[in-house]
Amino acid sequence: MQVFPCPFCGPRNETEFHFAAEAGKVRPDTTQQIGDADWATYLHAQRNEKGTVREVWMHMTCAELFILERDSVTMDVLGSTALRKDAT
Ligand SMILES: [Zn+2]
Repeated sequence: MQVFPCPFCGPRNETEFHFAAEAGKVRPDTTQQIGDADWATYLHAQRNEKGTVREVWMHMTCAELFILERDSVTMDVLGSTALRKDAT
């Protein structure tokens, strides 16, 4: 079992969380014509980097999204940051 730190609820069991996306991944501009290959790349391609990564996770208990920073090799959690502007 791994413990993730929700910025709103504190440390919780990893089973309460759901991966949402790589942080910084930019959605294609839907006001412009977007090809199938570009959508497929956006939806399915991951950087899958070794080392420190930043990811968007959701805590299913409080339904808040946040940035989780972790080491993808050791699985050590390095920290978490709320995405809400009014979060403390
Ligand atoms: Zn929470």
